[in-house]
Amino acid sequence: MIEYENLGKVNRPFFEEYKKDFAETLEKGWYILGSKVQKFEEEFGSYIGTKYCTGVASGLDALLLSLKALNPEKGSEIITPSNTYIATILSIVQAGLKPVLVEPEIRSYNVDPARIEEKITSRTKALMIVHLYGRPCDMDPIMEICRKHNLVLIEDCAQSHGARYKGKLTGTFGEFGAFSFYPTKNLGALGDAGAVTTNSEEYNTAIRRLRNYGSDIKYYNEIAGYNSRLDEVQAGFLSIKLKKLDEINAHKRMLADIYLKELKSDFIKPLKDDDHFDVYHVFNIRHEKRDKLKEYLLKNEIKTDIHYPVPPHKQKAMKGIITENSFPISEEIHKTTLSLPISYFHKEDDIQKVISVLNKF
Ligand SMILES: *Cc1c(COP(=O)(O)O)cnc(C)c1O
Repeated sequence: MIEYENLGKVNRPFFEEYKKDFAETLEKGWYILGSKVQKFEEEFGSYIGTKYCTGVASGLDALLLSLKALNPEKGSEIITPSNTYIATILSIVQAGLKPVLVEPEIRSYNVDPARIEEKITSRTKALMIVHLYGRPCDMDPIMEICRKHNLVLIEDCAQSHGARYKGKLTGTFGEFGAFSFYPTKNLGALGDAGAVTTNSEEYNTAIRRLRNYGSDIKYYNEIAGYNSRLDEVQAGFLSIKLKKLDEINAHKRMLADIYLKELKSDFIKPLKDDDHFDVYHVFNIRHEKRDKLKEYLLKNEIKTDIHYPVPPHKQKAMKGIITENSFPISEEIHKTTLSLPISYFHKEDDIQKVISVLNKF
């Protein structure tokens, strides 16, 4: 059986270092907001190339606290893609703001820059983009729209650690870069974790306050904040794994190249070009008979996944929240997309086997 994912196997190369680091934290007896969180924040900020980085409890919180730090007037609208994981949209809803969805491009799966401006109103405050599957959005037109309409840019980088557009890392384009270190992400912890990158001292101070009960000094609360802190234990693991992030991404890119080269053209494959350095959090193909294809692969001992089976605007949870209900491009993607095995633990042989089975479909 070729598994879709196996986190035990992904993390095996780090076990010895993890055990040592965990023992250190255990002995030290300091578990919340200590030197390991500070160290990881410095390392991740310097990897991404922003002045500041603040660890938080999850990717959802990284998005939510970014919006809270921005603190727009009530009723403000945030433009975001219709083709994303629901967390992106939930952060807007939880911040008390209105999500306004924009269709993706059918070939890149990312927000279509040409469809953004028609959604801008006098209430639009920010653009929250998602570098879906680890492919950077088309940043030139997006930055131009933000400048022209004076919009704040928030990047959902939950799937794009290390991805670059024209050589520039995702998480450095916007006022905020929101990262998730959920275990399956390219930089994954052994539990929930996240971070916000920014070049703004003001926003960074706000996020540090918000994550810790709105407090700068213990027991003195400036604002009504949250409990959304990155743990020392997770920060220690993340510092260790960060050293291998480029290697993890290179491995996934190498596997993706095999798929791109050898899969027959019956399958719609991801785009590849020089402007987009894609880190393949997900490697998807599309096919009209997606469900049959998934079943066929499983019969041939190959597990796959679907990102995602139901688009956000069709979710029960979004009833009354997302009022527009026609997003045909998103729906087409959700109906036809299939995610193939592409984990750090997969070998070239695994991918060759998947390809040979697929090419007989
Ligand atoms: C994983 C993910 C999130 C949420 O991250 P969590 O750490 O699970 O809260 C947000 N947006 C996207 C696009 C994601 O893939």
